[in-house]
Amino acid sequence: MKFVQYRISEEIKKSLEQQDFKKPTDIQYKAIPPILKGEDVLAIAQTGTGKTAAFAIPIIHLINEKKKKFKHKGIKCLVMAPTHELAIQINQVFQTLGKYTRIKTFALFGGTDQAPQIDKLSSGIDVLVTTPGRMFDLRSQGHLDLSTVEILVLDEADHMLDLGFIDDIRDVIRYLPANRQTLFFSATINETIKKLAYSLVRNAIRIQI
Ligand code: AMP
Repeated sequence: MKFVQYRISEEIKKSLEQQDFKKPTDIQYKAIPPILKGEDVLAIAQTGTGKTAAFAIPIIHLINEKKKKFKHKGIKCLVMAPTHELAIQINQVFQTLGKYTRIKTFALFGGTDQAPQIDKLSSGIDVLVTTPGRMFDLRSQGHLDLSTVEILVLDEADHMLDLGFIDDIRDVIRYLPANRQTLFFSATINETIKKLAYSLVRNAIRIQI
C-alpha cells in the first residue's frame, strides 16, 4: 500500500511526495484508516516510528475536507504534548504536511509572553498543539474556547503522567465536547496509563507496534 492509494486530500499527497514519504510506516498503516473513519484509537508507539504523521495525516484530511464544504470557526483539533519541544515538533509536522491546505495550526506553550498567544488564538486556529500547563492557564483565564473541538490527541501520554500533568489533563477534558474523537498515544503502557486512556476513549481501536 502506497500513500497515492489512500483516500486522502490531494494537497496532503503532494506534500508527502515532496518529503519523499512513499509508503506508510507500520503505525501509519494501522492508525490512518480508523482515524479517517472517526474512530477512537489507543496506540502504543515509540518516537521514531512515524507516529506524528500517523495522526497528523488523517486529521489534516478530515479538517481540510470539512473546510472545503463549511465555514467553521474555532479549534477543531487539540493536541496535548508533554514538552515545548514536542509541541513545536508536532506543529511542524502539521505545517509541513498541511502546507498545501488552508489549515491553520499553532503551538502554544509556557515560558513566553501570553499576549501574542492570546491574539493568535483569536485569529482562527484549526489545530492547537499545546502543553497542558499553558493551556490550563489560558483556559482558566477565559482565553481558550474548547467547545468546538472535535478531535483530541494525547501524545506521549506516559510522559505527561510522569511530569505530573494528570490534573491539568483532566481539567481540560471537562471543557471538551463529550462527542469527540480521541486519539491516545503512549510509548509505554501500565495500569495508570490504561486507566487514563479508558476514561477518555470510547470503543477504541487498539494498536501496538
Ligand atoms: P516520529 O515517530 O513521528 O517522531 O517520526 C520519525 C521520523 O520518521 C520523522 O523524521 C519523520 O519525518 C519520518 N517519517 C514519518 N513517516 C514517514 C514515512 N511514511 N516515510 C518515511 N519517513 C517517515
